[in-house]
Amino acid sequence: MFDKVLIANRGEIALRIHRACREMGIRTVAVHSTADAEAMHVRLADESVCIGPAPARDSYLNKAAILSAATITNADAIHPGYGFLSENADFASMVEEHGFTFIGPSPDHIRMMGDKITAKQAAKQAGLPVVPGSEGSIASEDEALTVAEGIGYPVLIKATAGGGGKGMKVADSPEALREAFRLARSEAKAAFGNPDVYMEKYLGRPRHIEIQILADNHGNVVHLGERDCSLQRKHQKLLEEAPSPALNADQRARIGRIACEAIAKLGYRNAGTLEFLYENGEFYFIEMNTRLQVEHPVTEMISGIDLVREQLRVATGAPLGYGQADIRFSGHAVECRINAENPETFAPSPGRIGGYHAPGGLGVRVDSGLYAGYRVPSHYDSMIAKLIVHGTSRNECLMRLRRALGEFVVEGVQTTIPLHARIVNEPDFINGDYDIHWLEKFVAQRTE
Ligand code: ADP
Repeated sequence: MFDKVLIANRGEIALRIHRACREMGIRTVAVHSTADAEAMHVRLADESVCIGPAPARDSYLNKAAILSAATITNADAIHPGYGFLSENADFASMVEEHGFTFIGPSPDHIRMMGDKITAKQAAKQAGLPVVPGSEGSIASEDEALTVAEGIGYPVLIKATAGGGGKGMKVADSPEALREAFRLARSEAKAAFGNPDVYMEKYLGRPRHIEIQILADNHGNVVHLGERDCSLQRKHQKLLEEAPSPALNADQRARIGRIACEAIAKLGYRNAGTLEFLYENGEFYFIEMNTRLQVEHPVTEMISGIDLVREQLRVATGAPLGYGQADIRFSGHAVECRINAENPETFAPSPGRIGGYHAPGGLGVRVDSGLYAGYRVPSHYDSMIAKLIVHGTSRNECLMRLRRALGEFVVEGVQTTIPLHARIVNEPDFINGDYDIHWLEKFVAQRTE
């Protein structure tokens, strides 16, 4: 096992990784920007290194500074968390070239899945069903019109380099498509420095269902079930649950088996997530995330498996040591992403935390670096906490979640807690009857 791991991230995920390391007897190195000197992940780590000023490009995205921090602290391995450099193939290569272990998949797999077109082609070849669409990127408006003719409107233009829903435009007619094509390309160029786009059939009422997989370096692959992440605003997830209210045991086993077979064919290692849209009983692959995900705790709560611990174990070359038949799911879990935002307008609300009280009790988990007096910086993502609740049934889980949300006190900044409190009392949500557009409509109704 590693002696020392450098955590190349901040906030709740840096803390999450620190906790797994500490429980395994591994020492931790935190890195931080000048804005995060007082952050909880820095306070709890065994050592910490300041890697630059507040803007992420100068600190958390500064590859050279992170590698230097690993060198001077004599770390064995680097865990990238999610976001920042976690899906940067060049960084993963540099980590290995400098003699550290990258806790994640190979740079080649990161690269393959980082480009949506090569990802889709690889997924198709590995036997996964994909959304009907263009074969590759689309070079011109005329080509876009021809492809759309073939698959039928409405269509969705997506950025090849996409992420976070940027560069995505729907078109329901040829005129709208010309406009969407131009807009998507300029948005993609601005966000990713790459204007390439491709096209997919736009699904009207899908759910977003993703499969968590774990693979070792010896060809063993298991899945840890699905997460339903359909509650999204601007393609950003806000609340996730496992299992999905839309799947039965047979459907779960079927998509899980297909996912494991594909992962084995690709020769992928470490943790990863296959994302699908699910409509009328059919799954359509949309992308693969080659890292730990924000919503991983709901999977941990129903499987009892610590995903970060498993990532660390398989990164040392250890075999998984269990098979699919050994994995048992128990009960139901929901995660609420708590952002420092106005719950109506979603305007960011950074600032100093006054009073702070986290909920507790059986089946309640809070992953957060917050404490009274902490200043939420304005430079980074607005997520400040995750509330994860487990119950023996979905109903028990929702009862507990309402209770826990009611106990949660975060003073000094606005948060999305009141929005979550409303969602968990909505009949559609209680009935599990929602798709990827439900939350947008719900939010729009409330602000009308
Ligand atoms: P990104 O990497 O930008 O997050 P994804 O491909 O993961 O892009 O898609 C993000 C979200 O956009 C999905 O969860 C879904 O809500 C929506 N979406 C993506 N593809 C389609 C599609 N073909 N039809 C309808 N909605 C889609």
